[in-house]
Amino acid sequence: MIKKLWRCYVCNDIHFGTKGPEICPTCRAKNAFCEIDNDEALKVIGAQGGKLETVEQLVRVWEDFTKEQDFRLEDSQENIQTLATGELENVKKHGLKYCPCRIPTGDYERDLKLICPCNFKAQQYWKENAECWCGLFVKR
Ligand code: SF4
Ligand SMILES: [Zn+2]
Repeated sequence: MIKKLWRCYVCNDIHFGTKGPEICPTCRAKNAFCEIDNDEALKVIGAQGGKLETVEQLVRVWEDFTKEQDFRLEDSQENIQTLATGELENVKKHGLKYCPCRIPTGDYERDLKLICPCNFKAQQYWKENAECWCGLFVKR
């Protein structure tokens, strides 16, 4: 299935998927998503999106992400900061927040799987160790 870009005509939310969500998660409008192209999406996101440039911002995002999940951030603040620093370096070097414990292959499509948070709960490592490959997210 091919994923495309969609924009909510009410609030300009951008969605990437096989179709737009029935209910806009931001403004709750119904059937509001219209297909758009890359350039439009980038322009809209550029106008509205924030930047995650510091370790503190990234750790806050992770904290929010783990709320009401069956996993949490690991205990060591030092490790968390090190992983966040690694990811921000990957942004500088490779343009995306790639996993700090794995090396991007250079194949863009394959490397999309390495953007943190990756789909770690689907991985064998999670099943065996109850944590993601880098130990950033651990089972509650
Ligand atoms: S293994 Fe952990 S740190 Fe690495 S990308 Fe996945 S979630 Fe992020
Ligand atoms: Zn909307």
